[in-house]
Amino acid sequence: MTTAGPHVLITGGGRGIGRHLVNGFLANGAAVGVLEYDSDLCDELQQLDGCSAWQCDVSDADDVDLALSAAFDANFVPNVLINNAGIIHSEPLVNMLSRDDRVHSRAAWKRVLAVDLDSVFFVTSRVIDYLLARRQTAVVISISSISASGNAGQSAYAAAKAGVNALTKTWARELGPLGFRFASVAPGFLDTPSTRSALSETTLDRLKQQIPLRALGDVDHIWQTVRFLIENDYVNGTVVEVDGGLVL
Ligand code: NAP
Repeated sequence: MTTAGPHVLITGGGRGIGRHLVNGFLANGAAVGVLEYDSDLCDELQQLDGCSAWQCDVSDADDVDLALSAAFDANFVPNVLINNAGIIHSEPLVNMLSRDDRVHSRAAWKRVLAVDLDSVFFVTSRVIDYLLARRQTAVVISISSISASGNAGQSAYAAAKAGVNALTKTWARELGPLGFRFASVAPGFLDTPSTRSALSETTLDRLKQQIPLRALGDVDHIWQTVRFLIENDYVNGTVVEVDGGLVL
């Protein structure tokens, strides 16, 4: 499959990595559909030639079903799905500096698992079911993180992303025989607004010294990897780390 021509469904395509992927696919002539939380961003995306957007909280199963029904009714039949929407959350398991409840917020735990992991299950299961009924196939790429291997201070995020990688491998085995392919892309630290709002300049400088390539990644590195995973018909169940060699 090539990146020109397909129908690509991207979750959280309103900003950040997702928006860069939207722009990349549109520039390559693909039809792009976006499931996005922010209705203003949906309006903005609708203005782009070749792009459709449906307002949706992908952590909510009913919302996903409604948005996907609208997409399918509009004859948007994805043969590439990018599960990108996610929130980055850092919090220690027990905050020893706090006087009150020192344990990791349970609300934050649930929210991160819902947005980063449940969403992948909700969206992918509906899309695959729809395609199977029409004897069509797809490539499903989920944006994970190197935190999936374990990262101090990121219990919920690491668990969610490890779950995403497990789903990639499970579905690769389960649905590979039916012609579907799955992969995860696990970025390290990218120079994005979400990274800069989560980490101080000092922390980023320290991190850069730990990365063998001594630099943060760029959203374009993710676009290059996604393109490769779509075009290479023999890759299935793989987690590709894009981290400058941070996790070896
Ligand atoms: P971002 O800039 O915050 O963009 C995330 C997008 O997803 C936004 O458009 C956001 O919409 C949307 N979104 C969030 N929750 C949603 C929900 N419940 N339903 C629908 N849309 C939702 O984040 P990013 O940095 O591009 O990250 C994208 C993905 O890459 C995430 O899965 C993240 O974990 C992963 N990642 C990022 C980095 C990095 O360095 N940036 C590193 C490793 C992994 P709103 O703005 O309206 O909420």
